[in-house]
Amino acid sequence: MKKINLKKEEENRIISLFEGGESIRKICKITNYSQSLVQRVLCEKNKTERFKSNKNYIAVCKKTKKQYNDFKNSSGILIKHIQNNYNNIDIPSKFKRKSYEREFNQMWHEKFFKIEEIGEKKEEFKCKFCLWKTNDINNSSGSYTKHLLLNHKINIEKYLSIFPSDDYLFKTFILKQIKKIIMLNVKFVAKN
Ligand SMILES: [Zn+2]
Ligand SMILES: [Zn+2]
Repeated sequence: MKKINLKKEEENRIISLFEGGESIRKICKITNYSQSLVQRVLCEKNKTERFKSNKNYIAVCKKTKKQYNDFKNSSGILIKHIQNNYNNIDIPSKFKRKSYEREFNQMWHEKFFKIEEIGEKKEEFKCKFCLWKTNDINNSSGSYTKHLLLNHKINIEKYLSIFPSDDYLFKTFILKQIKKIIMLNVKFVAKN
């Protein structure tokens, strides 16, 4: 297929139409460009994010229903599965598969696998000092506070002096501190 190169302003027009909420089909009608060209422009600009970073996906084999987490085939496992389960399939080179993906906005192995969304990725909070992580992203259970103290011998005051923008993790502690300051002031005022 011949590759048509668009001028920058034509590309931007496609992108702004898409961002304005027009469907790919409608954009083709308006601009008179082919669907694959419009898709390529949007794909290259990363405007058509098929897979959301906060969602989990699996690839399900259309023939054997086997499921794989590596739905993008980063490890090559999906191609291996195709080779093992289909006869006489000519697997295109990695380069050709990539250009297929750009052209059709679909991964080549999707001819053999259905991509299914399997729910939200759980948000995680990672310890700033080690690999420990928790799903309690606001530290509402206080487990991060405990972890810091037990594993790194760091208390909240010290931690906040290093990472002041993490103050949202220690709301109760900060409220207590504020109360203490107010009480001290009250006592001070009362004495004088
Ligand atoms: Zn299979
Ligand atoms: Zn840690």
